[in-house]
Amino acid sequence: MPGIVIVGAQWGDEGKGKITDLLAERAGMIVRFQGGNNAGHTIVRDGEEFKFHLIPSGILHSDKPCVIGNGVVVDPRILLSELDGLRRRGVDTGNLRISANAHLIMPYHVLLDTAGEMKLGKLSIGTTRRGIGPCYADKALRLGIRVQDLLDEKILRTKIRAALEPKQQALRELSVQRRKLRKEAGEEGDKEGLEQAIEDAPDPRLDLHTMTEEHVSYGHRLEPHIADTARLCWEMLDGGQTVLFEGAQATLLDLDHGTYPFVTSSNPIAGAACVGAGVGPTDIDEVWGVAKAYATRVGAGPFPTELEDAVGRHMLERGHEYGTTTGRERRCGWMDLVALRYAVRLNRMSALTITKLDVLSGIGPLKVAVRYRSREGAILDTFPYHQSILHSAAPEYEELPGFDADISDCRSESDLPPQARAYLDFIANFVDVPIRLVGVGPGREQVVWLKD
Ligand code: GDP
Repeated sequence: MPGIVIVGAQWGDEGKGKITDLLAERAGMIVRFQGGNNAGHTIVRDGEEFKFHLIPSGILHSDKPCVIGNGVVVDPRILLSELDGLRRRGVDTGNLRISANAHLIMPYHVLLDTAGEMKLGKLSIGTTRRGIGPCYADKALRLGIRVQDLLDEKILRTKIRAALEPKQQALRELSVQRRKLRKEAGEEGDKEGLEQAIEDAPDPRLDLHTMTEEHVSYGHRLEPHIADTARLCWEMLDGGQTVLFEGAQATLLDLDHGTYPFVTSSNPIAGAACVGAGVGPTDIDEVWGVAKAYATRVGAGPFPTELEDAVGRHMLERGHEYGTTTGRERRCGWMDLVALRYAVRLNRMSALTITKLDVLSGIGPLKVAVRYRSREGAILDTFPYHQSILHSAAPEYEELPGFDADISDCRSESDLPPQARAYLDFIANFVDVPIRLVGVGPGREQVVWLKD
């Protein structure tokens, strides 16, 4: 089984990091194929917590090459600080490889992301403001700067100059608009951080020479890691070794198939692993989807099974549902099987992992959404493609018995309470994919492998 893709099956934060770390034991190489430092993976090993935003979760297996693929957007400052942090904790990072073709998040991308969200006001998407969207936009505009450009000062300067000019103009316009709006609202002063920086253009971070010099120095430090990573994947796969392709974010946040515009700016679904790593579809043998035993969502956008009651609060608190990257409270709700079935088909999943089942102990009855009802009363068995329909869709639930026992020490299927097993069976039967692994706590040993 050489090529395995791991994808988020819901709205992200499903615990993909832990699952990747676990499956990495059997793999020869781990590759991240999309997204940037808007992701956040937490892995708990021997009680020690590691948080990654950009570096693939396989990095803790220091004997295995760990790749940042061409489909990832890389903020070199963040990457270097993650590398420094890991080295300080004694993790060997010598096996990290970064695609020479990956695009760089530049300081102007971060400023534009923030300015864009501020301009949208109430309509903002809830991006992490890390510059991911503007970076992918520049890639499509052919104005992007790639990792390989860090190694040639002349090319780097020329490309930054070409990319910078339209950004300065856009930021100036945004700043004028904001000042006008603030004046109209009778507000004065009291601006902070980035907001102030945008208003005070020209920002020192947008100086061509400073930016070039800074990035040349990043290039010197990253050079030993820069490689032709697609070729590395081919060598592994052709040699019969397993390669894990690790997705960030999740299916319902997919740029094309998610709840647009409340989505991420890349494609986190399994099909994108080929593009973002440089392998062919027939290199992929298995697709593992990771879903929580309930549902969460960060930021704006439709979320049919959202709970704003004590049960939702229980999930938030017991599940520590606060974003790894932003610290924001996640919205919580019941497991949505209409959405999960959609994710299963989009990714053509071969296996499911259900994480955080332990969080549901003490809740009863458990509910799972099995269909939606439209505002007009129509029954919707499939995930609606039309945003207005999804926004007003009301979930209809099946009720299943809950369980009270603490399951965090369960290690085999027979240790789980019968109600927990029935809950898992219901999910697997509904979406018609076997559940192979169940999470019962944050620790890497806190899992139950299920018989296929
Ligand atoms: P990712 O981005 O999909 O890797 O997910 P995050 O790391 O953002 O969020 C998952 C969180 O849940 C992390 O804090 C994990 O340590 C934690 N976690 C993972 N699996 C389990 C589980 O089975 N039970 C509990 N209680 N926590 C888990």
